[in-house]
Amino acid sequence: MESILELRSLSKHYSTHRAVEDVSLSIHRGEFFSLVGPSGCGKTTTLRLIAGFEHPTSGEILLDGQPLAGLAPHQRDVCTVFQNYALFPHLTVEQNVAFGLERRRNISKQRIREEVVDALALVRLSGKESRFPNQISGGERQRVALARSLVIRPKVLLLDEPLSALDAKLRKEMRQELKKLQRSVGIAFLFITHDQEEALSLSDRVAVMNKGKLEQIGAPQELYRRPQSRFVAEFLGEVNWLNGVCVRPEAVHVSRGLPAPAAHSTVGIVESMTFLGNCLHLEARLPDGSYWVAELPQQHCDFAAGETVNLWWQAADEFQIPGSN
Ligand code: ADP
Ligand code: MG
Repeated sequence: MESILELRSLSKHYSTHRAVEDVSLSIHRGEFFSLVGPSGCGKTTTLRLIAGFEHPTSGEILLDGQPLAGLAPHQRDVCTVFQNYALFPHLTVEQNVAFGLERRRNISKQRIREEVVDALALVRLSGKESRFPNQISGGERQRVALARSLVIRPKVLLLDEPLSALDAKLRKEMRQELKKLQRSVGIAFLFITHDQEEALSLSDRVAVMNKGKLEQIGAPQELYRRPQSRFVAEFLGEVNWLNGVCVRPEAVHVSRGLPAPAAHSTVGIVESMTFLGNCLHLEARLPDGSYWVAELPQQHCDFAAGETVNLWWQAADEFQIPGSN
């Protein structure tokens, strides 16, 4: 795969604090790539280095094969969508989207108008051209911010937690829209989030970051099912541990009889049952004193606290973390 953006041993230190430390990764053309990690792990700093708002302490960034060192933000063929959208309140939707194009020379008024119409249609905002940012909803403001960036046709679109200001329902809807949009424009997206579900559901590949360093890069399924560190395993979801082996809650089955023959199993005593709407969490205490969680569909909820049960899972559903046993 051909890479459009490459980070080579990128580091950014603020005096003694290592905000970004030796990060190397390569984003392919047309790829939806996410950088995920807890708050403060260095995601925004990485993005600001790419956009040119910060200078690296060491390392190199290449866009389409060209080193970016020495180029000011506006000379870099990337665009950033910020968490707070950063729209101009005194400009209409249309003027906000046209703004970046108007600053470029050699583009006719007619051409700008056409491009803006196309960009607004792309994000389903046709008909709202003359509204001001305070006259549209949060989701619509988000779409204006996207249109404003896409109309410039950057080589890579950088998005810093763009959905985090939206409420839960709108956020899920925008997630799907964002993915469709990325597919239709074919521009590589570097999407930053602290939300592991968002990263897993949107991306072709995900990089997990922790304390300024990259922990692991891979396809969502690969990271979730074959994490290479305890941090990645636990950041991406709940984990049950047994003798150096891990099993995710949704892979654990609970039964009263003998375990299924092809499965691995342990016994446990039911500690509690928690109703979560679409499923149920059964917590069980194992003989070694540890606790396991099984995520069960509603129909299997006839277990009682204090009852001894078999917890079993398929061999393919367990994973080991290198160096953990
Ligand atoms: P994230 O986006 O993953 O939440 P950031 O990249 O914003 O994290 O920050 C990473 C670390 O670098 C944090 O500990 C933050 O306090 C620190 N940091 C960020 N910017 C600066 C700065 N300008 N000066 C000093 N420390 C900073
Ligand atoms: Mg941030």
